[in-house]
Amino acid sequence: MSTKDYLEKDYYKALGVSKTAKPAEIKTAYRKLARKYHPDSNQGDTKAEERFKEISEAYSVLSDEKRRKEYDEARTLFGGGFRVPAGNRTGGGGFNFDLGDLFGNTGDAGGGLGDLFGTVFNRGGRTTAQNRPRRGADVETETTLSFSDAIDGTTVGLRLTGEGPCPTCHGTGAKAGTVPRVCPVCSGTGQSSRNLGSFGISEPCKECRGRGLVVDDPCPACSGSGRAMSSRTIQSRIPAGVSDGQRIKIAGKGAPGERGGPAGDLYVRVHVKPHPVFGRSGDNLTVTVPVTFAELALGAEVKVPAHRGAPVTVRIPPGTANGSKFRVSGKGVRRKDGTTGALIVTVEVMVPKNLNGKARSAIEELREATAGADPREELLARARGA
Ligand SMILES: [Zn+2]
Ligand SMILES: [Zn+2]
Repeated sequence: MSTKDYLEKDYYKALGVSKTAKPAEIKTAYRKLARKYHPDSNQGDTKAEERFKEISEAYSVLSDEKRRKEYDEARTLFGGGFRVPAGNRTGGGGFNFDLGDLFGNTGDAGGGLGDLFGTVFNRGGRTTAQNRPRRGADVETETTLSFSDAIDGTTVGLRLTGEGPCPTCHGTGAKAGTVPRVCPVCSGTGQSSRNLGSFGISEPCKECRGRGLVVDDPCPACSGSGRAMSSRTIQSRIPAGVSDGQRIKIAGKGAPGERGGPAGDLYVRVHVKPHPVFGRSGDNLTVTVPVTFAELALGAEVKVPAHRGAPVTVRIPPGTANGSKFRVSGKGVRRKDGTTGALIVTVEVMVPKNLNGKARSAIEELREATAGADPREELLARARGA
């Protein structure tokens, strides 16, 4: 991407969002379009591929606060749809008006405006924005983990799509077996200067389009641009204890930087599949355990499944209410600091559907034995009293 891309391309239109769209809106629009036009689901459809590239390029600019600002400024200053003369299509060139000279001569155009132009086009020709190192864009991706992997941590393969060096020519833009040569017109500087009356213009060399190199036989895969959309799979460690919906930052695994700039960061949105037995509540695991009325009334020691290792024994004291919770420490989710959350056990009375003769008569006996005490007496009294 260069200044001329900024002037020629309407990234907002590419993503179908307004110029005032919030970052979240841009992201949503991008995701939707990227899914639709992804090469994986449009095999051999060159139109979809073109559209996918367009979407990705637009997103790489609009998702980066700094680049979006540069883009907006460039288009405000020169207007959208600005066409750059043919012959200036690719490479690191772009427009490099020597604005230092321009404003120097007019004298009164204060530093503010000069600085603004400076950020967009970088006055002085040689050290253009295109030549400075640039940090790679941040990249977003998603992954789905099993319940246990989310708790224990795991390594996942993440498939990332982005712009990188063309794999056919390794970024040189030259056809296999050929190499680019130093541009004879500008001797490899990529710049040519001329004086137009009161101010000088430093512009990209026409011969090499500002690259300083000329390619005699362009690489057929990238038409000589040296850039291509590609997907790569990286293995990434997901730390223990992540929860559903969490976003994890993996530093330095985003898009590669340009000209020695650092790589961007990778953000992974984690989805966690539910477990048939255990639930999660922060760092605690939860489980509901069926018990009998007798176990709650008389007290019991019951075996409870643990997420890791053998079942644990929970002691239920006599007279425990249905729905009571018991805490088994150390059987929850491992935290970053090495400590572990608890397993929260909820007891739930199971009422038998069919009773055999002996159990039935025992319960009938219980009913008779407890006939004097109406469990609803107090409730009814309180309801009357209110
Ligand atoms: Zn190529
Ligand atoms: Zn040249």
